[in-house]
Amino acid sequence: MARSTSPEADALLDQEIKVLDKGFVRLVDYLGNDERIVQAARVSYGSGTKSFRQDRALIHYLLRNDHTSPFEQVILTFHCKMPIFVARQWVRHRTARLNEISGRYSIMKDEFYVPSVDQMRGQSEDNKQARSEDVVADGGRMIDQMAEDQRQLYKHYQDMVAGGLAREIARANLPLSLYTEWYWQIDLHNLMRFLHLRMDSHAQYEIRVFAEAMAQCAKAVAPMAYEAFEEHIVGAVRFSRAECAALAQMLSGGESGLDGRALAIFEQKLARMKSVNPAEPTDEMAAPTD
Ligand SMILES: Cc1cc2nc3c(=O)[nH]c(=O)nc-3n(C[C@H](O)[C@H](O)[C@H](O)COP(=O)(O)OP(=O)(O)OC[C@H]3O[C@@H](n4cnc5c(N)ncnc54)[C@H](O)[C@@H]3O)c2cc1C
Repeated sequence: MARSTSPEADALLDQEIKVLDKGFVRLVDYLGNDERIVQAARVSYGSGTKSFRQDRALIHYLLRNDHTSPFEQVILTFHCKMPIFVARQWVRHRTARLNEISGRYSIMKDEFYVPSVDQMRGQSEDNKQARSEDVVADGGRMIDQMAEDQRQLYKHYQDMVAGGLAREIARANLPLSLYTEWYWQIDLHNLMRFLHLRMDSHAQYEIRVFAEAMAQCAKAVAPMAYEAFEEHIVGAVRFSRAECAALAQMLSGGESGLDGRALAIFEQKLARMKSVNPAEPTDEMAAPTD
């Protein structure tokens, strides 16, 4: 059987998608595409090749029903360059395989993340892990201060290396804003999990922009799977048991019965539901498949 390729993904190979001020995401290679997912799934169901329409229906069926293993047959390898504090969040996704630049072996480059003024926002009042919508008054001065600290720390690093100190100890004082690089390989099922968490509005902006660049690559590799991901995962809203009871009461014309923080969270979910931009509904997205 011929190797399954995607022209859109081939066009992206080796292209640096610029992210933040000095970072990038580059699709190095991929294995498999939508065709591989349906081939793998049909092995489990014992049926052969079908039409494009049936393939699309099958992919939607698989994701809608959490039959995720066929998506693991597709592998993507990325070369990424990101600030260390972004890498610290990223590395929590344990199902990937990675190789990172070594600060013991190499001289770390003089490359630090400097936020743009529009990202110099205040602390969020309702989410201890987030920033608010409001830019702080003296963000420009703070940026200058960050850049000055970076220059000074890097100069001391250079001095220590020049003075004969081992690179592995000289790098210890370099800050989290320093850029690092890695090769990162993951299967499509686990990539979708990463993208779902890291493209979400609750994820930090600086990792969200990397996730969005990788989503562009995933979409190019497996467009039908990406469409199903948007339909059944990104566009879905998960309700707790109490929230389902509240919804049922509202559908019967009553009040939700929730109050306080529970009501606030429920209302956020309802607002999200209302803001969903639905895809043109098709039979393939909803219908069961054979
Ligand atoms: C908005 C946000 C805020 C966060 N804040 C914090 C924080 O404050 N502090 C903090 O420590 N973390 C934080 N995290 C990280 C979070 O707790 C998860 O570690 C991270 O999102 C990775 O998720 P995962 O475990 O599903 O991913 P993966 O590690 O990729 O795992 C994917 C799936 O494989 C399973 N799996 C992976 N490895 C194993 C294994 N060895 N054995 C069995 N099953 C395995 C997982 O259970 C999961 O179902 C945050 C994440 C987000 C998105």
